[in-house]
Amino acid sequence: MKPILIIILLLATLFLFFLSISYLTNPLLVDSHEKVAFIIPHADDETIGAGGIISMLSNSGCKLHFDLMTSGNKIGVGTISVDDYYKANVSKMHYLGDIGNNTIKIDNYYNVNISKNVSEGDRKGIIREDSFKQVMKVINVTNYKTHGFDDGALTTDEVFSVMEELYLKDGYTTFYTTTGDGNPDHHACHEAMKKMKEKYPNLKYRQFPIYYYFMGRGRTNPTQPLNYNYIDVNVNKYGNMKKRMFSVYYNIHIILPSFYPHSDGLISDGMERIYY
Ligand SMILES: [Zn+2]
Repeated sequence: MKPILIIILLLATLFLFFLSISYLTNPLLVDSHEKVAFIIPHADDETIGAGGIISMLSNSGCKLHFDLMTSGNKIGVGTISVDDYYKANVSKMHYLGDIGNNTIKIDNYYNVNISKNVSEGDRKGIIREDSFKQVMKVINVTNYKTHGFDDGALTTDEVFSVMEELYLKDGYTTFYTTTGDGNPDHHACHEAMKKMKEKYPNLKYRQFPIYYYFMGRGRTNPTQPLNYNYIDVNVNKYGNMKKRMFSVYYNIHIILPSFYPHSDGLISDGMERIYY
């Protein structure tokens, strides 16, 4: 065998070796052919829980798809109080109060007309769904669906049929969703993924806790992940992208009379946890 062939073979072996090592050390790495679907219970879950990971995957050139399950139309403070925000470990967060020029102007914030006659809940749903669409533009994703199920009433079966169709019809083999953290819609997504895993064990299932950076919530509360392997990814490199995504949600409280808990601008640009 010619020496040049031996060298090429050696280099190829080394290349494959290092490739497999990097896959072992970062199980989230995907190749550009992989079809990755994110099942998102509420507009903003994707940004708060996995904005950095999404930017990372998007950079890798793989095909990303999003399904937004609910319209986010529930009125009320929800399960998180403002106090909890400040009791939390603020060192893990990034205060966006100074986003200045990056703040999206309210005049051109929405592409939708909201009639004066709609209920407060519907108004909230319209605004949040539209915000989600703006975030899809920020990350350059055109491949998404909004389902408009009622916030707080999502069922496992509804999510399961969306996931199953993504696999059987559209060929998606990697799925991301929230962990079951107590929120009923997050829980429905978790349960649907569990059903998927039982029926199709060979696909890739990933979960992210939304409030990972809140000590006492995503991190220490039971988040019921399907798999107990996890990786904490430092997404600081994608901090600017995450900030741009989050800035879409940032001003919601100005237009929306209902309390929108994420308008205080606290978001992590450090670690994001993914169970796999
Ligand atoms: Zn949510």
